[in-house]
Amino acid sequence: MRPLPRPRPARSPHCFRPSVSPILLLTDGVKHILRRTGHGRGRGQTGYASLFFCVQGGTILATHAFAPERGFAAFELHPDLLRALDAMGYTQPTEIQAQVIGPLLSGRDVMGQAQTGTGKTAAFGIPIVELADPERRETQALVLAPTRELAVQISEELGRLAQFRGLSIITLYGGARMGPQLEALKAGVQVVVGTPGRVLDHLRRGTLDLRHLSMLILDEADRMLDMGFMPDVERIIRQTPRTRQTALFSATMPLVMRILARRHMREPVWIRVRPEEPTVAEVEQRYYEVAERDKGEALLEILQEQRPERAIIFRRTKAGVDRLVHFLHRRGVEVEALHGDMPQRSREQVLSRFRSGALSLIVATDVAARGLDIPEVTHVINLDVPESAEAYIHRIGRTGRLGRAGTAITFISEWDQAALEAIKKVANGALRQGRLRLYS
Ligand code: AMP
Repeated sequence: MRPLPRPRPARSPHCFRPSVSPILLLTDGVKHILRRTGHGRGRGQTGYASLFFCVQGGTILATHAFAPERGFAAFELHPDLLRALDAMGYTQPTEIQAQVIGPLLSGRDVMGQAQTGTGKTAAFGIPIVELADPERRETQALVLAPTRELAVQISEELGRLAQFRGLSIITLYGGARMGPQLEALKAGVQVVVGTPGRVLDHLRRGTLDLRHLSMLILDEADRMLDMGFMPDVERIIRQTPRTRQTALFSATMPLVMRILARRHMREPVWIRVRPEEPTVAEVEQRYYEVAERDKGEALLEILQEQRPERAIIFRRTKAGVDRLVHFLHRRGVEVEALHGDMPQRSREQVLSRFRSGALSLIVATDVAARGLDIPEVTHVINLDVPESAEAYIHRIGRTGRLGRAGTAITFISEWDQAALEAIKKVANGALRQGRLRLYS
């Protein structure tokens, strides 16, 4: 028999608040899980609902069922959190939320394979906000993310979720001034979101204390791995209590994630949400043949014709971004650049104006725009052809999110015929050719 999981202090009331009679919902599959484990907490599937259960010595203590038609109400969340969800316009959980929120609320560790755009931030954000105690001043939840942009994005989402709960949330990332971070930490914060380097920095200075941490989230773990953050992540984990709950989210699950799960997690629930379709169905895809030197004029024509509400224009290089912004400014178009050479503050300002709708056009490099989630993006314009078919999918995935309509436009210059063939393949018949008035 497999060893039983170590008992974890029951922190979640959910596990002990039966909402549905267990008898009614137990299917053979669930019974099998109960027979096998005899003990602990788990998740089963019935024909129409996910079922989370607690068992002790073979006796069912409680179940908590999630039926999709009940929406967020099925999770019996704090009224202040439900109010926030309502204010945010979240009426139905997304697929990853439906699968992840229950196990996290009942104290389980989670390995979630999902990409940005699936609603994964709220999938861990809702349990954080529900379980963190605003009365306690110590840090109870820590979210680690690979980039400052993502960290800021997560903090903003947590802030919206916690708007009526009175939790304090801080974002720690390199490049920002230490002073305000130190002051906030001194006052006591319940939730910390940060990049591994800066979080470790605070741990070393003794300005961040993780001894009371109860929930650790590793977001975009594969990117943290690619960026060489894993040793820092391990150092951080060593400074947290073993009783903590851990969740890891990653778009891909290379072997090293499994090793990480074995080393730092307790019988995690594995959850996988369909990866983004190779070609996003809702995105209308068009390409135009344009001579390299006509790209600026061609872009003006497209902007005039399409009048995009919110567009990201991609260029291959930072210099290319700056040149195009300069050209557009001269032609009276309001637009801002977004690339890695800009100071952090200006990048944040540009993003926040873009996100709020005050600015409708940005010109960006791939790196600057990676992982950005702005669902209102209506157009992606590839002024320079993406470097690979994979980068193409990634770029056009910035639009048409969560079922919204989107348009992706790609300029093909005299040098790009091979790239066009590669894109056509992944577009699977969805890419149409457009004609520019410029050449008629
Ligand atoms: P994420 O994958 O966490 O970056 O989320 C992608 C987008 O979906 C974000 O803009 C969220 O605001 C939005 N979102 C997340 N959950 C929901 C929901 N349940 N209903 C509607 N929109 C959502």
